[in-house]
Amino acid sequence: MIQLTAEQEERAKRIHDEALVVDTHCDTLMDIEKGVRQLGERSDKGHIDLPRLKEGGVDAQVFACWVGGTKAVEPLKHFMVMADHFYQQLGKNPDTVVAATTTREIRAAKQAGKIAAVLGMEGGEPLEGELGTLRLFYRLGLRVVTLVWGGRNKLGDAVFGDSRATSGLTDYGVEVVKEMNRLGMVIDVSHLNARGVEDVLEISTMPIIASHSNARAVFDHVRNLSDDQIRAIAAKGGLIHSVFTFLHQDRTKGSLDDVLDHMEHIMKLVGPDHLGIGSDLDGIQNSPIGLEDASKMINITRGLVARGYTIGAIRQILGENFLRVFAQITREEQITG
Ligand SMILES: [Zn+2]
Repeated sequence: MIQLTAEQEERAKRIHDEALVVDTHCDTLMDIEKGVRQLGERSDKGHIDLPRLKEGGVDAQVFACWVGGTKAVEPLKHFMVMADHFYQQLGKNPDTVVAATTTREIRAAKQAGKIAAVLGMEGGEPLEGELGTLRLFYRLGLRVVTLVWGGRNKLGDAVFGDSRATSGLTDYGVEVVKEMNRLGMVIDVSHLNARGVEDVLEISTMPIIASHSNARAVFDHVRNLSDDQIRAIAAKGGLIHSVFTFLHQDRTKGSLDDVLDHMEHIMKLVGPDHLGIGSDLDGIQNSPIGLEDASKMINITRGLVARGYTIGAIRQILGENFLRVFAQITREEQITG
């Protein structure tokens, strides 16, 4: 448990309220699609809904569409159905949430007291080997694509699954990376195997992110990133967003402190400019103690205050890092002059 003085509690609350808090990965749309619950209603099931995001002070949430990885049936159609659910749910809650495709829209949402919702895709199966699908998905508002999920797809190999996972991006994967650079989409290398990450780093002209990955030096798991990978992603201006799982050996007993340990390791390696939060809530079975659901997100800030991080560093980690990189990828600096 984190013990703060009254002054620290007050400071943590102020930092968290004022900061723009971003979570770059969740799987909430799966429950929505199954009809288990509605985004606008506070539920005791799962981890994320609009009331709990509001309570937790989360200002921008990336909602991933995951359609089953290599076992996906009719992935393109499935993605369209999930994307429709996303927009249907936003449409039902116009006073609380708004779709966002740029950092300006994210900041405007916060100013209006709304949550910004960004559409993502986990696993490139819905692209079905075409670039035209990618371009049309961009027009549908898709801005974050996790290239692979499990096993081998048309883009490359994942760290686990049914493939040998030793080769890098396919020729098609290379074309997708280039087209995402051109369109201004966020390339996400979480789940991608080591050769694939190397390929993306070599080919992409833009910074890349690992939307939900931790540090292998803290817990040696294939889904976590090595120190070399963390340094390479940072050297290219990119981001590593700590995930609320793959924390330590016993995956049923993670805690807030474990998440903070991973974050601290990444900070020690590359400084506070390359770190963020990518909870994977609603995609993990056991959320950490102290981060049980989205309503507890302030505990990250409380933990960072307890560990002595500056206000500036905390604000960067909570969201400003992502906004900086997102603006770069979408070339907003040029647009805003
Ligand atoms: Zn994932």
